[in-house]
Amino acid sequence: MPLGDYLMTTTTPQVGYLYLCSSNAGKFQKGDAGPWFNGTNSGSTTTATTWDLTKKLYVAVTKAATGTLSSTFSVSWPSIGGNGLPGHNTGDFPITDTTLKQYDGNPNSIKSKTIAWGLPSTPTYHDTPSCVGYGAIGVFLTGARLFAATDAVSRDARAWEITDACGGHPSTDAYHYHSLPACGLTADVAGQHSALVGYASDGFGIYGNLGEGGTALKSSDLDKCHGHIHAGAPSSEYHYHTTDDFPYTVGCFRGTAATTD
Ligand SMILES: [Zn+2]
Ligand SMILES: [Zn+2]
Repeated sequence: MPLGDYLMTTTTPQVGYLYLCSSNAGKFQKGDAGPWFNGTNSGSTTTATTWDLTKKLYVAVTKAATGTLSSTFSVSWPSIGGNGLPGHNTGDFPITDTTLKQYDGNPNSIKSKTIAWGLPSTPTYHDTPSCVGYGAIGVFLTGARLFAATDAVSRDARAWEITDACGGHPSTDAYHYHSLPACGLTADVAGQHSALVGYASDGFGIYGNLGEGGTALKSSDLDKCHGHIHAGAPSSEYHYHTTDDFPYTVGCFRGTAATTD
């Protein structure tokens, strides 16, 4: 898959790109490039422009959610509430495996962080998209936050960061994903459009990898913000899709984003 490090823009939203409000490229050193980068790797430097998802390493999902670490997610449209924890089991963080730590020294553990969001009840489609930042840009129906496809230094988060096998990991304060969670969501049905899997901060829905007729979508099938309107449908039915390729989920906002921390 293309490495998203080269598919980020702060000026011009484009299909297959992440439209970031600001770049943090090179601001500080993060983990080393793993053997799934298709290039010559030296520490955190790589010549790779593509990477191999099938070779990516993950933290095993061994930790059951119990007590105060159980999810309290609820949707009462347009209010979204919960403690930010997923309803599925997770990996055990901080990472203890020495190999994985070399690729991602994330020192954080999984903690709750309140979600008390008021999303736009009737999302409005804008021809001119808005950029996304580094924090929450939405929530999955697992109960945990969606962050954009970037790590803290404007690199392809899914390629560089070590998540658990569900696709989530903790930041200093919140468990989050940068791509479609592999756990806790309704499975796709062959031949059918994916089910709703979450909401972006602008109130538009996020659906899984399958478009109309069950066709697996790529970023190139979607618009600059990684969404579409089905033929004949009104703009109010705009929605985002997840894909396997960068930027994985929301690439920019089509609507006006509510404050979602
Ligand atoms: Zn992350
Ligand atoms: Zn669709």
